[in-house]
Amino acid sequence: EQFLKVMGDQAHRMSQLVQDLLTLSKVEVDASQPPMGKIDLIKVIRKEAQHFDWTAQQKDMQIRLDMKEDLPPVRGDEGELAQVVHNLVGNAIKYGAAGSDVTINLRMSSSFPNVANFRAYDRAVCLSVRDKGEGIPKEHIPRLTERFYRVDSARTRQVGGTGLGLAIVKHIVHRHRGVMTIDSVVGKGSVFSIYLPIYEEE
Ligand code: ATP
Ligand code: MG
Repeated sequence: EQFLKVMGDQAHRMSQLVQDLLTLSKVEVDASQPPMGKIDLIKVIRKEAQHFDWTAQQKDMQIRLDMKEDLPPVRGDEGELAQVVHNLVGNAIKYGAAGSDVTINLRMSSSFPNVANFRAYDRAVCLSVRDKGEGIPKEHIPRLTERFYRVDSARTRQVGGTGLGLAIVKHIVHRHRGVMTIDSVVGKGSVFSIYLPIYEEE
């Protein structure tokens, strides 16, 4: 029975890895075609937050939603945007301190991160996921979205995962012609923010 459990765990890891690699390559193949759907992010976020309710409770954590209700839709692919929220909230719970809050904030943004890719848009919706956890040392931040990159591989092995989550987020955001910024203070926590162009009727 002991060995069956080990095999089961390994099979699960392997299947997760294959799934993540497939997601990544699919998003990459479609990179030159921005998705055209009209997406209500509030709905997507509510659903993902609910999905993580149980996981959060296991660490005595709470997911708080702080969302403006009258936001315009964004242009995108619902499944991919759900994946972005899923990966960011999953990380916030995984790396957040037990007993702390995870806050998902959604608002209109008029000031943009200074990134070339984003100049063409003058209005965006900003989604940010904030945790109170150990934070990320500055020198690691530029590398977080690399495939398989992990800040502390010995420690992260215990919490599981493939190290592809943020690589997937980066590719999806890029395909959506959006931008991601990462702010973190060691010992305090991290904020991952995604800026997405709003849906404009042609
Ligand atoms: P996976 O998401 O595939 O299950 P993962 O969480 O290790 O595995 P990523 O989501 O890509 O992979 O994150 C890469 C690394 O960045 C993590 O291993 C962790 O070291 C660091 N990291 C990501 N999010 C946070 C966070 N909110 N707080 C602290 N460190 C983080
Ligand atoms: Mg992750």
